[in-house]
Amino acid sequence: MLKTTITAALLYMAATSAALADTLIHAGQLIDTLQGKVLKQQTVRIHDGEIAGITAGFEAPEAGDEVIDLSEHTVMPGLMDMHTHLDHEMNPKAYSEGFQLNAADYAYRSVGYAHKTLLAGFTTVRNLGDNFLVTVSLRNAVNQGLLPGPRVYTAGKSIATTGGHADPTNGHSQHLMGHPGPKEGVINGIADAREAVRQRYKEGSDLIKITATGGVLSMAKNGQNPQFFADEIEAIVKTAKDYGMTVAVHAHGVEGMQRAIRAGVDSIEHGTYMDKETFKLMKKHDTWFVPTISAGKFVAEKAAIDGYFPALVAPKAAAIGPLIQGTFARAYKSGVNIAFGTDAGVFPHGDNAREFEFMVEAGMPPMAAIQSATVSAAKLLGIESQTGAISAGMWADIIAVKGDPLADIRLLQQVDFVMKDGRIYKRDGRAVIQ
Ligand SMILES: [Zn+2]
Repeated sequence: MLKTTITAALLYMAATSAALADTLIHAGQLIDTLQGKVLKQQTVRIHDGEIAGITAGFEAPEAGDEVIDLSEHTVMPGLMDMHTHLDHEMNPKAYSEGFQLNAADYAYRSVGYAHKTLLAGFTTVRNLGDNFLVTVSLRNAVNQGLLPGPRVYTAGKSIATTGGHADPTNGHSQHLMGHPGPKEGVINGIADAREAVRQRYKEGSDLIKITATGGVLSMAKNGQNPQFFADEIEAIVKTAKDYGMTVAVHAHGVEGMQRAIRAGVDSIEHGTYMDKETFKLMKKHDTWFVPTISAGKFVAEKAAIDGYFPALVAPKAAAIGPLIQGTFARAYKSGVNIAFGTDAGVFPHGDNAREFEFMVEAGMPPMAAIQSATVSAAKLLGIESQTGAISAGMWADIIAVKGDPLADIRLLQQVDFVMKDGRIYKRDGRAVIQ
């Protein structure tokens, strides 16, 4: 009896140690995002989904260890996109699809979008606005290992005011408009603002997204007017803090974004018409800027195609879209904290890394652009002790590209290797079948 127990225990130990054998990555170049330095020939040891340590040179494996040869590659932490919409992808039919598709249609689409995003090297995203809570369920499914995707931090439904950007019934005929309220993410006044935040908490959101000014793609005339009163934003920020949630703010016009910054929000998205005074205010309040240049370029390009956007939307896309890259250039020079974000979903998912090219084109050094999508993004999410760098004790979220992305930033658009939580999702440029 005793002998059987001991044998069983030994077998169990052998099985567990085999399951937890280490993976060694031999990195030709390794980007140290904390120091902004490149290290040559390093070994990253991965144990049980975490980074166990980094050593100089190519360490020889012990029995049972797996070696991944990335000696021709540049290895870096998994990338993080702070502005995505994984339940949706813009297309000329998107406006009418809103009347035809069910929640499940959007949910099935999100599965493919999430996989594409992960294969593009993005191991963590912040989802800023969805419908039907698709990305709350997506987050849970990814975390449960049911499908491959990035780690998702989601705002659930964006919060707007009546008729504002993200009022879900904008552009509907009157008999379909109804009267959306805090439950549907539409508020008017302080009591509604509090209720809308608490509703998001109840629905499982990780953070709050509000639309402080008009926006480009909504069926409404103005793309930049303020759409919340200061006391409404203050009520949102205060309530969100009570629940440990941050507040991300869509804003194009100056007045709306300044009200939000003064109220203590965490990030300004797009920021198109930011001026010097706004940069100063952001530095004073430690507000992050999430640029989304990619979305601006995409909508500007599509606005030139007759009929791609509704007549109400096209002029806004043509006016606002081309400005964001210039705003980004000025913001970077001014010293505002920048976290990488694209607004993927406005343009095809998986093309997120083009943003790096636009950032570098606008004057940001490649290393700083990579840091904005790693250490800085992790700080914005408050998970900098777990990801954003290749460092002992952190999640094993690791990607690699062939060659040197610091010499040619476009290489980040061809990620060759993707690991998340120690599991490999892409190898030799191909998706790993799970
Ligand atoms: Zn967006």
